[in-house]
Amino acid sequence: MLAAVLVATGLAALTQLGAAPPDPAPRAAPPAPAGAAAPEPVPPTIEGRRIIVGGAPGPIRQRVTAHIGAAITAVDGFWGTDWPTEIVIETVDSDREFTARTGLSEPMAAAAVAGWVDPARGIAAGQAIVIAPGAAGIGDDALQTVLTHELFHYATRAHTALDAPRWLQEGVADYVARPAPRHPAVPDRLPDDADFTGTGAALSAGYDRAWLLARFIAERYGPDRLRALYAAGAGPGHPDPDTALRRTLGVDPAELFAQWRATA
Ligand SMILES: [Zn+2]
Repeated sequence: MLAAVLVATGLAALTQLGAAPPDPAPRAAPPAPAGAAAPEPVPPTIEGRRIIVGGAPGPIRQRVTAHIGAAITAVDGFWGTDWPTEIVIETVDSDREFTARTGLSEPMAAAAVAGWVDPARGIAAGQAIVIAPGAAGIGDDALQTVLTHELFHYATRAHTALDAPRWLQEGVADYVARPAPRHPAVPDRLPDDADFTGTGAALSAGYDRAWLLARFIAERYGPDRLRALYAAGAGPGHPDPDTALRRTLGVDPAELFAQWRATA
């Protein structure tokens, strides 16, 4: 079934941005030569993919282009290279526009959106990574993480069910994107989708719990099994998460939690 829905997956864990800095002053475009239309800029090809950046002008566009190559490498390394060869990135110059474009009102640095998704046939159309104004105020390492996280959603969108568990989507996206934690928290329970209905610190804790479980699975069972869990547990026609765990890892949730807890 072709779903005519806006799908947006934002990154909240890093996006408690506080007061966003003021928008950079708009720059005047150079005058076009008389009688000649300015040529369309050729999108750069980075790591074998065409990078199409549009939207509001500003230095964030150059920063995004500078970081997208490492994001592609990270996604390719986990998911493989079979995903869209064009990456569309849009910058917006107001939070209002970001909300209008993504449907998300929580302050965020970026979100991956799609206009049309048909996971049963492996189709996602109208995809873009929308960069919020607040992204201009985060450092290079955080921007790298944000871009890689959203690019994972972009790469996997066509094979992700509309009702896929959020904890699995966000946990694996963060596993691909975030550097290893210096002091991982002792797990208190397994993640679930109720963790993603909150805001602020509760939402950040939800992202962290899902991320740390994904990391644990990759370390104990290997990244290929984590990828298999994503495909089984978040793909079209996926069973409930407990069944997906049993099929791909051979454990039930209580066993998985005991194993995870034992590593702390
Ligand atoms: Zn996400």
